[in-house]
Amino acid sequence: MKILVVNCGSSSVKYQFIDMQGEKVLCKGLAERVGIEGSRLVHRVNADKHVIEKPMKDHEEALKLILEVLLDPEIGVIKDLSEISAVGHRVVHGAERFASSVLIDDEVMKVLEDNVHLAPLHNPPNIMGIRAVQKLLPNVPNVGVFDTAFHQSMPKKAFLYPIPYEFYEKYRIRRYGFHGTSHRYVSRRAAEILGRDYYDFKVITCHLGNGASIAAVRHGRSVDTSMGFTPLEGVVMGTRSGDIDPAIVIYMQQNLGMPVDKVYDLLNKKSGMLGLAELSSDMRDIEDAACAGNEKAQMALDIYVYRIAKYIGAYAAAMNGVDAIVFTAGVGENSPYVREKVCTYLGFLGVKIDRTLNDVKGVERIISTPDSKVAVVVVPTDEELVIARDTKKIVESGIKELKLF
Ligand code: ADP
Repeated sequence: MKILVVNCGSSSVKYQFIDMQGEKVLCKGLAERVGIEGSRLVHRVNADKHVIEKPMKDHEEALKLILEVLLDPEIGVIKDLSEISAVGHRVVHGAERFASSVLIDDEVMKVLEDNVHLAPLHNPPNIMGIRAVQKLLPNVPNVGVFDTAFHQSMPKKAFLYPIPYEFYEKYRIRRYGFHGTSHRYVSRRAAEILGRDYYDFKVITCHLGNGASIAAVRHGRSVDTSMGFTPLEGVVMGTRSGDIDPAIVIYMQQNLGMPVDKVYDLLNKKSGMLGLAELSSDMRDIEDAACAGNEKAQMALDIYVYRIAKYIGAYAAAMNGVDAIVFTAGVGENSPYVREKVCTYLGFLGVKIDRTLNDVKGVERIISTPDSKVAVVVVPTDEELVIARDTKKIVESGIKELKLF
């Protein structure tokens, strides 16, 4: 069975085509600047990279081009579209309806449409991608895998905000959490690497990419996570602020005369590492600058690391202990500096990392010392593989929903 995994952003479509026999990625790529001038498709087969510059006015045109490339006699990997058994879609927000991955039908599409207000930036391109695939591959089943689903196991004490309860009842304002597919994958993988029973294991997973979130996973269930109603809450991110006093938003509007959209833009696109270091949102640039003596870059790094360490401390308390800490995503997988500095705060938990083992980028490895009370593990995330596996399970077994717990 071969599965196409699709991840539609506002102006991009990422894809991977996976042969589930051996879980081999046959090709992958990215259509970027969709709907904008200068759109192009970067298609990779093994180590070969092909760039196709072609206007793509919307997600449907992007997916059409992706299918053409898959069929291309020279750079493609299939002879006929019937070789695509199913398509798995990353969907950002499944709200409270989906604690599972689902076969997409009209009812599911309606729920997605009804929930656009909860994820106005993310769900519309996801919906466009599903509609485009339904049109281009009318006989192929589509499965939705939600970023929020894994965190639906959070208890009320973790997901409710202390604001009047009616805002939850009437408007579903609560903490949802995101990056769930990644937290789910790396938490389970860490248990496997450590030879532990996943259902008797307390792990804190740190997904540190441009967007970043931390999750407390106890006995295979997410019990808390740092992102909330939107992906703005939590730790410091590339351009997002993470946790701030909500009164700052009101102050900016009332006292500084900033309109709502400006405040929104400031907190989502101009804050975080970019806002603090006034240099870049990219951790590589910030680490290089700090190393060269740039004080603001060093300050930004100190805040970044400090806030991650505080979350880990909080989640160790939330679970009454922790067996392992996992680092994943762009920064987590590739920055020995960030990992070491975070772990330096965690000596009180008995965390000890081995500096030589920590000197690693992008590979699975236990980086704690043998006598560390808490294992520390680098696990490269693989959300596409989880989406493909869920899609395969649903399509093969003919079920409509795959419960995660
Ligand atoms: P996204 O949230 O966009 O999926 P990624 O998980 O790809 O993000 O992470 C991107 C971030 O990873 C970059 O902004 C960069 O800061 C960081 N990163 C990548 N490589 C390195 C590295 N070698 N050292 C430090 N940070 C890195």
